[in-house]
Amino acid sequence: MIYLDNAATTRPSDAAKAGVMKGLDVFGNPSSLHRCGVDAELLVSDARNAIAESLGCSPDEIFFTSGATESSNTAIFGAFKSQGKRKHRVVTTTVEHPATARPMDELERLGCEVVRISPDENGMISAEGIANAVNEDTFLVSAMLVNNETGAVLPVAKAFAAIHRRFPKVITHCDCVQGYMKLPVKVKTLGADLISLSAHKICGPKGIGALYIRKGLHLPALLLGGGQEKAMRSGTESVPLICGFGEAVKQLSADIPARLEKAKKLEALLLEKCAENGGISVNYQGAEKSPYVTSIAVEGLKSEVLLHYLEKRDIFVSSGSACSKGKKSGVLAEFKIPVRNMDSTLRISFSPETTEEDIIGLMEGIAAAQQELAHI
Ligand code: PLP
Repeated sequence: MIYLDNAATTRPSDAAKAGVMKGLDVFGNPSSLHRCGVDAELLVSDARNAIAESLGCSPDEIFFTSGATESSNTAIFGAFKSQGKRKHRVVTTTVEHPATARPMDELERLGCEVVRISPDENGMISAEGIANAVNEDTFLVSAMLVNNETGAVLPVAKAFAAIHRRFPKVITHCDCVQGYMKLPVKVKTLGADLISLSAHKICGPKGIGALYIRKGLHLPALLLGGGQEKAMRSGTESVPLICGFGEAVKQLSADIPARLEKAKKLEALLLEKCAENGGISVNYQGAEKSPYVTSIAVEGLKSEVLLHYLEKRDIFVSSGSACSKGKKSGVLAEFKIPVRNMDSTLRISFSPETTEEDIIGLMEGIAAAQQELAHI
């Protein structure tokens, strides 16, 4: 099997699976005062410590959620509720994942002015573009670190630094889902007040994520109930998933730079093979790009047809313009990808397991499809 759809989800690592099993065996409720509860709480703390260490923050700034969608919803609606009716402007980008984009639509419906910054004609979003849209009325800025469809890296740190210099009270949120454990993501350098993370993109289990909340920033909770996670996220903690998340982080945090170098080499090989093929164009090649995600278009072949052709050869990729089961996201158009490429786009995304053989196998599969399907 050649699995190159890691931006959608990754195969859980053995360490993460072992973590989940450990969390199932230690079955106590972390809120219980007896030993079974204390043991479970110890596992939760251990995972929280690992995530905090990876981001360079304090463990009490990490709140477990059901995933990045919940983290971003908590961040955005929390920021909205926390500012009362004093301010009404929000700044974001047109290339955000729906986990940010849909809450932004909802804020608009609730009366906020939502300013969405688009990439320029080269598909680049500038830090100044984001920062200059912020004014006295702004209470929140939300921008992702790495785009999930093109791999574009947004200049979030630069934008947030400029914003905080002029407007220290503006809340900054960053969806770091596609950057975490791939690029060096540190709270201090990013300068975000809120950071969304997801475990299943980093070889951890699905249904678990985290929200970093800078100490001193008080947000109202999205979920109310028993007061878990310092009342930020009520509901009995999913000890197995938290434990799996923690183990995935422990395993990957040690060698982010080495893996990044490997991913760059794999991306270079992919680009070289695409150029050799002659019938493939690369949709996004900005200077600021994560090597883990590459969007390509195979001339004359529809994404979905090609995706299923490759699937029959046990090769798994994503159709780049699909957001959820074929629904177009519009993000590729925002990146100024030519209309003719839109329907023949594939997204190739790497994990720590990806090898050169995977890339070569993919390119052979595409070449076979070009031969076989071109006549249909
Ligand atoms: N943000 C980005 C950039 C993503 O790629 C995803 C997942 O596709 C999410 C947010 C949502 O993450 P989760 O599945 O943990 O809710």
